[in-house]
Amino acid sequence: MPHEFDVVCLGGGVAGEAIAAGLQGSGLTLAVVERELVGGECPYWGCVPSKTLLRSGETLSEADRARVLAASRVDWTVDFPKVSTRVRWMARNLDDSRPAAAMEATGARLFRGEGTLTNPRTVTVGGEPLVARRAVVIANGSTAAIPAIPGLDTVDFWTNRQAAIPSELPISLAILGGGAIGVELGQAFARLGSRVTVIEAGPRFLGLEEPEAGTALRPHLEADGMMLVVGDPCVAVEPQIMGPSVQRSAVVLHLKSGAVVRADRLLVATGRRPNVEAWQSAGLPQTERGWLKVDPATLEAQPGVFGAGDITGLGGFTHLAYYHAQVIARRLRGIDERADHTAIPRVTFTDPEIASVGLSEAAARARGLDVVVASADPAEAVRGYIHDFHRGALKLVADRERGVLVGATLVTPRAGEIVGELVLAIKLGTPLKTLADVVHPFPAFNRVLGASLEELAMKAAQQPRRRPDSIHHDKTEVTMSPTQASTAPGTQGPATTVDLKLEVVVIPVSDVGRAKRFYEGLGWRVDADFTAGENWRAVQMTPPGSPCSIHFGKGITAAAPGSVKNLYLVVSDIEAARQALLARGADVGGAFHFAGFGTPPLPGPDPNGNSYGTYATFSDPDGNSWLLQEVKTRLPGRGFSNLDLATLTELLREAEMRHGQYEPTAPKHHWSEWYGAYIAAREQGRTPDEAAKDGALRVERGGEPVRV
Ligand SMILES: Cc1cc2nc3c(=O)[nH]c(=O)nc-3n(C[C@H](O)[C@H](O)[C@H](O)COP(=O)(O)OP(=O)(O)OC[C@H]3O[C@@H](n4cnc5c(N)ncnc54)[C@H](O)[C@@H]3O)c2cc1C
Repeated sequence: MPHEFDVVCLGGGVAGEAIAAGLQGSGLTLAVVERELVGGECPYWGCVPSKTLLRSGETLSEADRARVLAASRVDWTVDFPKVSTRVRWMARNLDDSRPAAAMEATGARLFRGEGTLTNPRTVTVGGEPLVARRAVVIANGSTAAIPAIPGLDTVDFWTNRQAAIPSELPISLAILGGGAIGVELGQAFARLGSRVTVIEAGPRFLGLEEPEAGTALRPHLEADGMMLVVGDPCVAVEPQIMGPSVQRSAVVLHLKSGAVVRADRLLVATGRRPNVEAWQSAGLPQTERGWLKVDPATLEAQPGVFGAGDITGLGGFTHLAYYHAQVIARRLRGIDERADHTAIPRVTFTDPEIASVGLSEAAARARGLDVVVASADPAEAVRGYIHDFHRGALKLVADRERGVLVGATLVTPRAGEIVGELVLAIKLGTPLKTLADVVHPFPAFNRVLGASLEELAMKAAQQPRRRPDSIHHDKTEVTMSPTQASTAPGTQGPATTVDLKLEVVVIPVSDVGRAKRFYEGLGWRVDADFTAGENWRAVQMTPPGSPCSIHFGKGITAAAPGSVKNLYLVVSDIEAARQALLARGADVGGAFHFAGFGTPPLPGPDPNGNSYGTYATFSDPDGNSWLLQEVKTRLPGRGFSNLDLATLTELLREAEMRHGQYEPTAPKHHWSEWYGAYIAAREQGRTPDEAAKDGALRVERGGEPVRV
């Protein structure tokens, strides 16, 4: 006779435990099948040990800070056995007898062993079928995903299973993957003394968060001695040639750019994959990425089969797994409970912490929302100074039409705690004007929210942008040249034809005054500073000796920093630009070039001295990340006339999108040839499709470079 239960739960991790707790006293019988430890990934190899490791590293970093704030001498030596013993103790020394007993105390029957869903009503464990009269809950979690990199199988590598409860402190540690797990464990090991290199294949680390999050965190990780390699995938792995001092686990990683990274240990943290083997043959629906496809409200994959936690692919968090289980338990008790995923917080527990909730700005725009954004740096709040905290970020995203907050990102100490109020605001759809009226205690870290919420409410209350009727000069600013006159919206009189080249780049900034001060500090010339009414201001600035200039302004580039990524800032001398930026404390990357079209970037300036050949990146204090491009010669026929800044901004955005569509199939060309033709055609009133054809035609015909 098969065992029969009302409910059978596959997996006794976070969600499995919460199902047991949620059904306690309901009168429903429950069987939970667990193949390893009751409690799952989080307490033994996930959240708990990794945060314990981070806490040890944090105390060392705080001790270092005492040198600045309190002490003339601080000495410490890492006692790794002490760290590792404490981490294991926090991970219950991998003993689940107490949580297993607690689960059985709820009335659930615990079956130990590998479970398989043999049909949508039956889980078989150790040859014994457990039949569910009412429902099966699939809660069997996820496992570290191992990428198919040639040679990876020839080396001894760690996943979170070894790294979160380490028995050794590697001298050097290479980490594949710059997501939350990679950067958290990376910072923990770096602070304990390992030389850590994080290699991220994608264009930025913490790619699931707002770009501002990674930009703000980067200097903190670098200050801890971490090397961050971004946009350069690992293409091959091999063991290091053994020598007397080389460990068995030592690896050599080959990156696509040709760079080579050597380390004593490798940690693979390239994401998670569903533990699909246990239920795949039962014919349940799967998402494109292989997760169990459930209705996000009822959490049912099909009638009588629920999914909870990581396995659903709806988010890899303990609090989400727990929430799913609560919703399912209530549904099984006959309550029509529905899961709501609009305000699930995400926290990366680095120092500073990164906390976010809801939609990113890009996701909100992609949904067609009328987006308004407010940004600030918590380091500039009084508490930031008191704490001696430098370089954080706060970004709030609102839907102007509904007048509510839809997303938030914080990079600051205690971000995981501060985000609570924003979670509630998004969950309840609290009106922005109510949020703007909330009083925050001085000088708590959350006080930074006050001014930004006010700014957001004010922006949302404004009508969508309208062209100003008249322009007046700010008296303190320089006089307009004909060029500037023709670029200002609504300028009176006949528009002078200007040669406003593509070298003029419109950038988004969160604070016009601060951006102006920063670039002024670099010695950039202020070409113009116009104001028109309260809500419109344009600043144009040019670096010394450069033929290019940048624009930003209130009411024009209200987009958040970093959101216009692919517009280049053209400079005449990249080395001079790099030095000037470095001297001002900007985050500047080394010069690089490309060996050919579509090839990966290579370090150093273009060896052939080609015009357009050399690049570098930098971020300013607002998190605007820039690609600098050195231009020695200009292509003819580019330039716009009679465009106001707002139109130019919009056209550049549109052109950027269109060029992105064109590029994959395009012949080798310089972007500016295409852009020039596209913008000129649009200016003549032609449709985007026609303009894109013009761009392609220009590329096919080519263009003769001329000296600047
Ligand atoms: C390094 C790391 C750090 C993390 N840090 C955080 C954090 O700070 N905050 C946070 O919210 N989340 C964190 N997470 C994520 C968190 O651990 C997971 O989201 C959470 O454990 C998911 O719970 P779950 O019940 O879905 O799966 P799990 O907890 O993984 O439980 C699934 C259970 O199913 C069992 N199982 C699998 N297949 C079978 C089978 N065939 N038969 C029987 N049993 C089976 C497994 O043994 C496991 O016990 C972290 C994860 C990692 C790896």
